[in-house]
Amino acid sequence: MAVELYSFKEIEKIRRACQVVVEVLEALKRSIKPGMSTHELDMIAREETKKRGAKPAFLGYKPPFSDDRFPASLCVSVNEAVVHGLPKKEILIKEGDIVSLDFGAFFEGYAGDSAITVAVGEVSKEKELLMMATKEALEEAVKVCLPGNWVSDIVDVIYRVAKKYGLYPLKNLGGHGIGRKVHEEPFIPNHPETFRQERKDYKLRQGMVLALEPMLSLGTDEISHNGDRWTVVTADGSPAAHYEYVVAVTKQGPMVLTEFKDG
Ligand code: MG
Ligand code: MG
Repeated sequence: MAVELYSFKEIEKIRRACQVVVEVLEALKRSIKPGMSTHELDMIAREETKKRGAKPAFLGYKPPFSDDRFPASLCVSVNEAVVHGLPKKEILIKEGDIVSLDFGAFFEGYAGDSAITVAVGEVSKEKELLMMATKEALEEAVKVCLPGNWVSDIVDVIYRVAKKYGLYPLKNLGGHGIGRKVHEEPFIPNHPETFRQERKDYKLRQGMVLALEPMLSLGTDEISHNGDRWTVVTADGSPAAHYEYVVAVTKQGPMVLTEFKDG
């Protein structure tokens, strides 16, 4: 499958979908508190999306790795959960947790996708470092989204920042193209070994729109599953963090389409 290239007009439409996603994530960040279930967060996400005339992108989504459709609108991945965390009534948020909120939406025919990790109350110094470093990996990855660079440059940057802090990018996961669909080519691995297995590099071009989403952990680069068929966890149970921005590759430089008020 070819990589889609988008016009500036289309990029503005993707930006509007991303804006809905950012607003929903900001509403979730304001609402999250100890004692709340991850299912409640999913309900808030649905309500906030509806208010804005958009549609959740993950609800009913069938990814290539699953025979099932995702039954929620929001992925909530707490502590050792990395991504694809299935919201549940029995998972209660508590003080000291770090919670990855990953949300996607369609608005007027285009998709937005973004993720943030939220610290609930006071968290450990290690978790704070993990969050800071994962965000730094994302911000550094954005800077190399220039025409003429390669997907492998993004892979290298994420790895370099992870290693600088003694952290681990998780294997078999990564970012993706986005636009009319929420997941498009190219796949953007977070780990160099996963990149080598893919045996495919892509040159970045004007008009590519990429969702970059580094996921780093404190103790391992190996992933496992927790048994609910969705939630991906670290193999050693150590905490993981996850941030995701959408960026358009343009001759004027990287254009971030997911703009958060608090950075
Ligand atoms: Mg996402
Ligand atoms: Mg994504």
